[in-house]
Amino acid sequence: MTDPNAVPLLLTPGPLTTSETTKRAMLRDWGSRDGRFVEMNVRIRRRLVDLVNGGDRFVAVPIQGSGTFAVEAMLGTMLPPDGKILLAINGAYGHRMARIVEMLGRAAVEYETAEDTPIDAAEVGRRLDADPAITHVAIVHCETTSGVLNPVEAVAVEVARRGRRLLIDAMAAFGALPLDVSEVACDAVAASSNKCLEGVPGLGFMLARREAIEACEGNAHALSLDLYDQWRFMERAGQWRFTPPTHVIAAFDQALTEHAAEGGVAGRGARYRENCRILVDGMRAMGFETLLPDAIQAPIIVTFHMPSDPAFQFQSFYDRLRDRGFVIYPGKLTVADSFRIGCIGQLHAADMHNALAAIAATLAEMGVTHCSPVPVARRATA
Ligand SMILES: *Cc1c(COP(=O)(O)O)cnc(C)c1O
Repeated sequence: MTDPNAVPLLLTPGPLTTSETTKRAMLRDWGSRDGRFVEMNVRIRRRLVDLVNGGDRFVAVPIQGSGTFAVEAMLGTMLPPDGKILLAINGAYGHRMARIVEMLGRAAVEYETAEDTPIDAAEVGRRLDADPAITHVAIVHCETTSGVLNPVEAVAVEVARRGRRLLIDAMAAFGALPLDVSEVACDAVAASSNKCLEGVPGLGFMLARREAIEACEGNAHALSLDLYDQWRFMERAGQWRFTPPTHVIAAFDQALTEHAAEGGVAGRGARYRENCRILVDGMRAMGFETLLPDAIQAPIIVTFHMPSDPAFQFQSFYDRLRDRGFVIYPGKLTVADSFRIGCIGQLHAADMHNALAAIAATLAEMGVTHCSPVPVARRATA
């Protein structure tokens, strides 16, 4: 791809490649108080609740901004000022929740594992037993830092058994991995438009247990992040409190229609699993090694160790791949020198095969012959 204006495919965890039809849904302006727009919001909120099998027990509350706005709003609204939260952390997004809670000035304790190690549900149980003052637990479903899948189902059992409340950052996997709130006991789930639901960025949302959010009046620390107020206003007036991201919402409505047409969570998840399998198999065939064993790898984003070959320079690899039409995801982990490649968004098997071909061609161009992180012992004398 030599044309600088050509559009590359995004092999990133979001924002990600969206469909032509989703992009086209933004080519129209909407009055925020118009009946059709109000209907669209009702439809979207209903669909989001249905995606977690929330029935009438759960409500959807959208909010402007990126996913972090939804997480911050969820924590600020659902955690009472006199509550205490246990934060299960194994990556950047867990640390981000800790920072949010610290800024909120709410009492918190942390349970941290390494970035390549899932949260241990039994350990969460022990921490809760040891500290009866803890009222809430927060966990990230798929930690995008490494791509590790945390056992939210097992953690939910431990939390519910002790009568505590669970808040889930489900951002990275929402819409691709099942999360059924009739089985996973929780008070709230936060996610956003621009990950596995394949909308454009600009919209976050919380799915909250109705009885839980009903008790959250006055908890929030900030007017614009008060999801109780947002929910009540929407129920009453059918409208957003403040200017809604109308074009983003219209695109999201279309993206949700396409998600349903693909077979919902099961269909979308199957395509991503296939993308992930093609990627991992192809990279391993070239000699790359994944950070995570397959059993704890979510089909969202894959972390690969940096090759030991001195001819491999990440920035050059990244730039050359982008010029060939594929944007991957830089960013360092603390546990290993690595880079990441996403498998979500409007990517299909053929795109993954094309990406692998571009990677192979790029490596050849750079003179990289050894992609394993383990150095070749005789390389120096070769
Ligand atoms: C993407 C993501 C978020 C939100 O990040 P933003 O950059 O604010 O959209 C939160 N948690 C997880 C696990 C994520 O993957």
